[in-house]
Amino acid sequence: MNLDLSPAELAFRAEARAWLAANVPGTPLPSMDTAAGFAAHQEWEARLAEARWSVVSWPEEYGGREASLVEWVIFEEEYYRAGAPGRVSQNGIFLLAPILFDHGTPEQRDRFLLSMATGERIWAQAWSEPEAGSDLASLRSTARRVDGGWVLNGQKTWSSRASYAHWGFGLFRSDPAAERHAGLTYFLFPLDAPGVTVRPIAQLDGEAGFAEIFLDEVFVSDSDVLGAPGDGWRVAMSTAGNERGLSLRSPGRFCAAADRLADLYAATAEAPDGAASRVADAWIKAQAYRLYTWGTVTRLADGGDMGAAGSVNKVFWSELDVALQETALDLLGAEAEVESPWSDGYLFSLSGPIYAGTNEIQRNIIAERILGLPKEPRR
Ligand SMILES: Cc1cc2nc3c(=O)[nH]c(=O)nc-3n(C[C@H](O)[C@H](O)[C@H](O)COP(=O)(O)OP(=O)(O)OC[C@H]3O[C@@H](n4cnc5c(N)ncnc54)[C@H](O)[C@@H]3O)c2cc1C
Repeated sequence: MNLDLSPAELAFRAEARAWLAANVPGTPLPSMDTAAGFAAHQEWEARLAEARWSVVSWPEEYGGREASLVEWVIFEEEYYRAGAPGRVSQNGIFLLAPILFDHGTPEQRDRFLLSMATGERIWAQAWSEPEAGSDLASLRSTARRVDGGWVLNGQKTWSSRASYAHWGFGLFRSDPAAERHAGLTYFLFPLDAPGVTVRPIAQLDGEAGFAEIFLDEVFVSDSDVLGAPGDGWRVAMSTAGNERGLSLRSPGRFCAAADRLADLYAATAEAPDGAASRVADAWIKAQAYRLYTWGTVTRLADGGDMGAAGSVNKVFWSELDVALQETALDLLGAEAEVESPWSDGYLFSLSGPIYAGTNEIQRNIIAERILGLPKEPRR
């Protein structure tokens, strides 16, 4: 692993830093889990896209810069260092797009990628169901074959930003006779299609970007099947490791938060006992994740794959985030009761060990696939 950046990579960093310094909004945007905040974040995505910073690693024809993985990591570092807004398009650009590139048809890529890059069409992930979260393969929503397409029925839940999003992507059971992982198909569907009801779920912070999605005889044409019918599980899992290990939560986010924590510590007149060690621990762990990620990127660039290592990363970054945010609240003392970016960050950090596959499930994966321990018996 060579940690020295090339002149071209240094120039890329400088260009990104300069653009972000000139364009990142001076005051934080309202939460993207509110209607006004969602719209403001969409506008931000449009601005990023205009300057071709919204999807740097994509091909130019879809609004990207064909940036390398190393450049993508550099961009992420600069993005969070600049305090830029959260990505309202993240489920589309990080979860769906890689699948469209690998398994979509050219027609689907042409139809969906540009509007995803500009933030005009926001996508919601519709995977979880009330009885199928960790054990996703037990999902019950169905797809029935009809002339020219499929009819979807069922209920999805915990769909981030579905209250305001435009399209959903999810798995449905298309062959009821097939065993669990077999017989699932990956579908794309508009959230305003006849038969779709989106019901917002109130969150801990009082906002309602999260939603349940009910599907009642929803027609989806063959052109909105992603990958082959019956191949949905393989299609869905093909990028899950990268999501957990790299794309969803890049180190830039935690390095920036650790820097802010160090600033908060420096500005705190009377820090509680042990706070200095906790601040240092969070900062060191963020840097460790950063350096480890450079190793991962080097491996991937050399043709390796993420494999089960993505699970180790996911446990690491989610637990680091909780510890980091808790330390900030302890530094703030009574002030932590007042709503602030730190209190929001703390509440959100609590969900890190749950989304993208719970940490218990990641530990099972680590135990079985990395440590070679015996498989968990099926209940
Ligand atoms: C902030 C946030 C955003 C989310 N966004 C989306 C989204 O956009 N789209 C979407 O589809 N879903 C989303 N989810 C849902 C998320 O994927 C699920 O919550 C997660 O997969 C867990 O499923 P569950 O809630 O049904 O819990 P369950 O699977 O019922 O698990 C309950 C508890 O049991 C534990 N457990 C379960 N099985 C095992 C096992 N085999 N071994 C050990 N422990 C086990 C779990 O770790 C957990 O602690 C989101 C969740 C959160 C918190």
